[in-house]
Amino acid sequence: MIDLTITEALKKLKSREISATELTRAHLDRIEKYGEQLNCYITVTPERALSDAAASDARYAAGEALALDGIPIGMKDLFATRGIRTTAASKMLENFIPEYESTVSQKFIDSGTVLLGKTNLDEFAMGTFSKTSFFGAPVNPWQMERRLTAGGSSGGATSAVASGLAMGGTGTDTGGSIRFPSAITGLVGMKPTYGLCSRWGCVAFASSLDTPGPIARTADDAAALLAAMAGFDPKDSTSAKNGFDFNGELQPILGGGKSLRIGLIKELRDVKISDDMQKIFDARIADLKSLGAEIVEVSIPNILDALAAYYIIAPAEASSNLARYDGMKYGLRVDGTDLIDTYKKTRASGFGDEVKRRMIIGTAVLSSESYDVYFMQAARVRRMIADAFRTAFDGCDLIVCPSSAGAAMPLDADLTPLEYYALDLFTVAMNLAGVPACSAPAGLSENGLPLGLQVVGPRFADMHVLQLAKHIQQFANIDNRPTKVMGK
Ligand code: GLN
Repeated sequence: MIDLTITEALKKLKSREISATELTRAHLDRIEKYGEQLNCYITVTPERALSDAAASDARYAAGEALALDGIPIGMKDLFATRGIRTTAASKMLENFIPEYESTVSQKFIDSGTVLLGKTNLDEFAMGTFSKTSFFGAPVNPWQMERRLTAGGSSGGATSAVASGLAMGGTGTDTGGSIRFPSAITGLVGMKPTYGLCSRWGCVAFASSLDTPGPIARTADDAAALLAAMAGFDPKDSTSAKNGFDFNGELQPILGGGKSLRIGLIKELRDVKISDDMQKIFDARIADLKSLGAEIVEVSIPNILDALAAYYIIAPAEASSNLARYDGMKYGLRVDGTDLIDTYKKTRASGFGDEVKRRMIIGTAVLSSESYDVYFMQAARVRRMIADAFRTAFDGCDLIVCPSSAGAAMPLDADLTPLEYYALDLFTVAMNLAGVPACSAPAGLSENGLPLGLQVVGPRFADMHVLQLAKHIQQFANIDNRPTKVMGK
């Protein structure tokens, strides 16, 4: 049962060949077996899961099934869940139990999903290997004995979905946190158009970049999850009016004489990637060509400046967003001799090193001496990149590029902060531009690890992005069934 995709499971649930309770128990048993080793959940919610499943079975019996009824999922522990601890993987929120439900998690409730638990992540979603989590890093189920990273910041979600400890999951992508972890765990991870999914009730990192999105084993499954998550929300001032309609199967965007112009970004051509990645990139582009795609070159002149701009804008926004953790309203409080001392002690003890580093950088670039030279410059680069994507999409329909330079690295790789930041080279530009981008499994490296390619589209072309991602996954044809990845 663990190997079923969401699409397959929904058919079996509808025909009553399996029940939501059986499906949920199978996943809870597997969490029991592997949850600790993989460290992909911060909180497991078995009682809630079984009661969700029972309600789902009752709806199937009454012929009133909802769109994703009975599908067991993991929720990134950045989405507030009423009555269930929501930590953002930080000591600051270790014991925080929200009294409200985020819009995204509410939409999953309204779609009939079963909540298995809250998945692990980098502290406040700041990181690339999920190693900044207060609860320790999740492990990649691929070649598990090697203890490779499952990526970050949504690394708990990718570890859980790739290992069959959830059928699908939610992530958030501020600079690549859905796409990078999905790429190195053999999954489909979709960063939708900014504004398509509400940020309300999601712990804020960098509000102008934060983008909730789905993580799944197939493009169809990702589309099904996105359909549940998307939609206008009056509680989020940046929420778009657009929705995402999906009828259960992505239609081919290539083949049968269809024409599609795929753009390759000129400025990325000379960026160093692994030989495996180059081979797989060339092979998949050749495949798409064989289906009738026209390959064109496009230019995003400032794309190599995206990293520098991102690592100014994201910390600037983070320093402001994280000012709310002062020990007064919720979360950790360490009493000091007076108010200021209490602030200091609380923040010194509650935040980890990477989060502190970001707040210091953010405060510095927003200071009156630095504002013009750093923050305003970064904002200009951001605008130039967004404009360049718009122009590029006059010359092509969709863009394809690597999701990362190479495959998963060992968790104990000893990288400097700047080396970690550099890993985001292929992903941050899409956040700065607010365009949709999806990482699809594209092949295996020489030593058997998954690699991903990104499909990028114009704003609100989310459907086309997923359609092309599906073609790439079909050509790659890698077996990402959980029992194949890590055994029964
Ligand atoms: N790795 C990036 C960072 O550390 C992206 C994080 C994210 O998308 N949440 O900021």
